[in-house]
Amino acid sequence: SFRSKSSGKADINYYDDEDNEEETDLATNSLLNKLIRKSLVKSSYNVEVLQKDPTSPLYSVKSFEELRLQPKLLQGIYQMGFNRPSKIQEKALPMMLADPPQDLIAQSQSGTGKTAAFVLAMLSRVKADQTFPQCICLSPTYELSLQTGQVVEQMGQFCSNIKVAYAVRGNRPSKGSVIAAQIIIGTPGSMLDWCFKLQLIDMRKISVFVLDEADVMISTQGYADQSVRIKRNLPKFCQMLLFSATFEDSVWLFATRLIPDSNIIKLRKEELTLDNIRQFFDPCENKEQKYRALSNIYGIITIAQAIIFCQTRKIAKWLSQEMIKDGHRVALLSGELSIEQRAAVIQRFRDGKEKVLITTNVCARGIDVEQVSIVVNFDLPLNKDGDIDCETYLHRIGRTGRFGKKGLAVNLVEKHSLNLLYAIEKHFNIKIKQLNTDDIDEIE
Ligand code: ADP
Repeated sequence: SFRSKSSGKADINYYDDEDNEEETDLATNSLLNKLIRKSLVKSSYNVEVLQKDPTSPLYSVKSFEELRLQPKLLQGIYQMGFNRPSKIQEKALPMMLADPPQDLIAQSQSGTGKTAAFVLAMLSRVKADQTFPQCICLSPTYELSLQTGQVVEQMGQFCSNIKVAYAVRGNRPSKGSVIAAQIIIGTPGSMLDWCFKLQLIDMRKISVFVLDEADVMISTQGYADQSVRIKRNLPKFCQMLLFSATFEDSVWLFATRLIPDSNIIKLRKEELTLDNIRQFFDPCENKEQKYRALSNIYGIITIAQAIIFCQTRKIAKWLSQEMIKDGHRVALLSGELSIEQRAAVIQRFRDGKEKVLITTNVCARGIDVEQVSIVVNFDLPLNKDGDIDCETYLHRIGRTGRFGKKGLAVNLVEKHSLNLLYAIEKHFNIKIKQLNTDDIDEIE
């Protein structure tokens, strides 16, 4: 029987496909998250703080007024629609704005207010009447640098004398030019050039150093070393701030080496659970039959919003074409789209303008669409070896306790691959019920 050989291996290897998905690109995901994020991600966890000096009092602020910011900066914050500090900002801002300045390593998931916090710190430390570089902010890509710069410009919109310059590819002033901007944002390689080769920045005058997206940074060849070289040349009084969305050991090691004896702030990510999710499977012969099964439940899935996951771009494209041919309305989120197009597709889905989104793993990774209540695995998630990928399964259909609305997951499984499904049941110690899509009363 299938059960006895539940090795979790797929009989067919989708990864032989020529149109394999592109490698996961952390920086692209990060940018996508920024493009689609319009508000804070909330967390039910408390912020954990590890102070460098545990005897010093720990301040926490519940309002921006308590921070005694310059009125023009406060005005910028309110103009952005911020009413009160986010959870991580409550604890991080008093430390970041303290006198004398304190170093900080902070970790919390994307969308929790890290960028806004360090932008605020840079803006409030800058001496606007002095026109030379005073803050360096390292970011992993050109696009992410510009995103951060936009936040600086927005928050600092009433601080008219504060200027930003970008040390990024394609922007290379001639050697020894005078840079009047106080805040320099850029990628490590270009920043090194600006500092040393082009001598545009007098390192002795830098008072704030920010390293953003440390996890993305260390996954990019050469960036960790380049960041260390920049940091080494900064003066003793310079405030060091490092941020990361995730904190694996490698990030941790890098962070604590770069900024030893730092204050540390962490906000745990909400755990995903399968508790509130009703899970079904429908055994099918082939992808055509899977398509028919999907058509049968189309009426149900469009009552709410649904995401349909496919293993490859090719299948995703085929499926969306078939559905459109049959008069269904679906949106396709594919790796072939530019990042702006992807952001637009996700935004339309979020706004409820599209009810069904077809996508692949890579595209959807890192994107949380809280209102989705139905997930269809047109293909079960596999890793590169063709083994079942339980973690991705959890990410696709799991919910956080907070957003613990009831969810529905339907797995369309080729009969010869049922062992994959059994591997999921075993891993999570759950039972996935068989669904008869010709008789769908069960899920209504
Ligand atoms: P992160 O850097 O952790 O990804 P951001 O600083 O980019 O988070 O913030 C995520 C979103 O929340 C942005 O749209 C930002 O404008 C908004 N935001 C940040 N801080 C606040 C706040 N205190 N109140 C309301 N919105 C905020």
